[in-house]
Amino acid sequence: MITKNIKEFKLKIPENVTLVAVSKTKPIEDLQEAYDAGQRVFGENKIQEMVDKYDALPKDIQWHMIGHLQSNKVKYMAHFVDLIHGVDKFKTLKEINKQAKKHDRIINCLLQAKIAKEDTKFGLTFDEIAEILNSKEILELTHIKIAGFMGMATFTDNQEQLAEEFSLLKTFFDTQKQQTKIHNCHLEILSMGMSGDYELAIKNGSTMIRVGSSIFGHRNYNY
Ligand SMILES: *Cc1c(COP(=O)(O)O)cnc(C)c1O
Repeated sequence: MITKNIKEFKLKIPENVTLVAVSKTKPIEDLQEAYDAGQRVFGENKIQEMVDKYDALPKDIQWHMIGHLQSNKVKYMAHFVDLIHGVDKFKTLKEINKQAKKHDRIINCLLQAKIAKEDTKFGLTFDEIAEILNSKEILELTHIKIAGFMGMATFTDNQEQLAEEFSLLKTFFDTQKQQTKIHNCHLEILSMGMSGDYELAIKNGSTMIRVGSSIFGHRNYNY
């Protein structure tokens, strides 16, 4: 199943869109199967779980942290994490920078934008993102790269609403991409779309989709 799903996804998504296989809660064997089918980018939302899987699996995997971050845990993944999707505080950027420096690395980060109408989701408003990108403090962070933005749409079937949320973020992304000219910010990635809404996200400019259940099947408990 997993092998077939990975192969189908590779065929159906455009070349410029990266597929992040969201493997949270899934056992090592499932990730290995996806790896054997050619998948190299995996997303996890708990740091300890990601560390355990990193230790057990081939080292050419790119590990993405897609969950909400606790600053005090950044140190456990600083030596290998490839991209951190859910940064929604300047303080977290500072901590990532500090930990990356210890390992002489530059860690790629996405700022998480609040696009959903629900207030349960984390994220920064567009104004808050602009404020961070225009701040003096960000210039001092030599060991991070802001590689783009991440957004999670409202949990709804309303296609119009989803499309609107995605396209608002895409427009904001394009504007910031044009305007932001700082050394540690190269806006290339727009991470939007999950199993239920990735097609719409791609139509509205996503360059990175985070897909869990459509690859690995349903998760037993709700994360
Ligand atoms: C779990 C999760 C996903 C994947 O969700 P599916 O609906 O299973 O594809 C994507 N993004 C984030 C941030 C997640 O936590």
